[in-house]
Amino acid sequence: MNFRALFLLPAGEKEGTLKEARGVNLQRVWMTAGMVAALDLAYFLWFLFMPEGASPVERQWGESIQTIHFVSLLVMLLFFGVATWLRRRKTGMGVQFLLEALFLVWVLSLGISLATADQRVTNNITPFLVACVAVGALFHLRPPVALTIFALAALDFSLSLGLTQDDPALLLSNRINGITTCILGFGISYAFWRSFLQRRIQRVRIESQAEELARVNGELAEMAFHDPLTGLPNRRHLDERVRTEAAAARRRGTTSCLIELDLDLFKNINDRYGHPAGDEVLRRVAALLTAAVRASDTVSRLGGEEFMVLCPDTTRAGAHALAEKLRERLASAAFEVDGHVLHVTASFGVSVLPVEEGRDPIQGYGEADKALYRAKSGGRDRVEEAP
Ligand code: GH3
Ligand code: MG
Ligand code: MG
Repeated sequence: MNFRALFLLPAGEKEGTLKEARGVNLQRVWMTAGMVAALDLAYFLWFLFMPEGASPVERQWGESIQTIHFVSLLVMLLFFGVATWLRRRKTGMGVQFLLEALFLVWVLSLGISLATADQRVTNNITPFLVACVAVGALFHLRPPVALTIFALAALDFSLSLGLTQDDPALLLSNRINGITTCILGFGISYAFWRSFLQRRIQRVRIESQAEELARVNGELAEMAFHDPLTGLPNRRHLDERVRTEAAAARRRGTTSCLIELDLDLFKNINDRYGHPAGDEVLRRVAALLTAAVRASDTVSRLGGEEFMVLCPDTTRAGAHALAEKLRERLASAAFEVDGHVLHVTASFGVSVLPVEEGRDPIQGYGEADKALYRAKSGGRDRVEEAP
């Protein structure tokens, strides 16, 4: 047996484990108090009808059993009420532990009282056995707490039994049986505590693995739909948005547009300032474009130094004006990279998104591309529209 595990909780687990144990125990105090109160009432009523020919000893026994059940009924109702109240409120763990400890002491005392009263008519100690098994099996008790409770119960039981059991041999036998019952109760409690701990550790591990899986899935989704250099939506993401937007525009009966742009002579930037500087310019251009468009527009990176802007609910003239605004902003921007001030321009192609039934809206890319090609061949740093 691992004696450390007997008394200590795994590191970092203490707070959560005790909180969970308290929650389960409070629920069980509530449930057990309700059930025992019902039994107390039933037995109290049962003992109202002692058989006609009962002897004085039997009558005395019946009365004491009845009194114990009556007192227990009141106490159980009190526990039931307090547990109901505590279950509705968020109270500190200290209050819950106090209620739990008092309840367990009461359940064991009930078993001891009934077994002691029973000694007038029988020499068995069944009520105490039932109480010990119930406490061991129903409540999540840390082994030191369980050990204390069962040790006190063994002591109390041994002393109490002397009040009613006059036969020294039976008294000795029952005391030994009572102590054995306490050891059994502690063993059951310890076994349940260990399995509670193991189930909890497994559950916590599964939960943290599920969290990690959700995080990795989120990252994979981000990677699948975004460009790692600029963080913009990638071509796959854009295709989805374009198809959704085409369907929505068809329903609304409105026009949406595409603006494709390609940085001019970008190879020169790489050649002169190096690829990392070129990357930095691409990032800055992405930020500039994103800041210049509406929140409902989608700026995506098609690849290389090519970008596409999807403009929902925008006329051809509106898209042309936006492309012109982007062209001017780019041309007038000064990107400071590695101590150099870099300037870039871009050529633009504007097309209307095809939304007719049966046409693939992705065909709009080709039209924007042709217009862009005309802008390039027309001298760059300009905007052209698809016919
Ligand atoms: P044009 O005006 O005809 O578009 O000229 P260009 O130099 O921009 O066009 P070209 O297609 O000849 O070259 C594109 C260049 O863009 C080539 C490559 O060095 C650069 N480029 C493409 N992707 C990246 C990237 O991810 N990072 C960097 N730094 N450069 C890139
Ligand atoms: Mg280019
Ligand atoms: Mg290009």
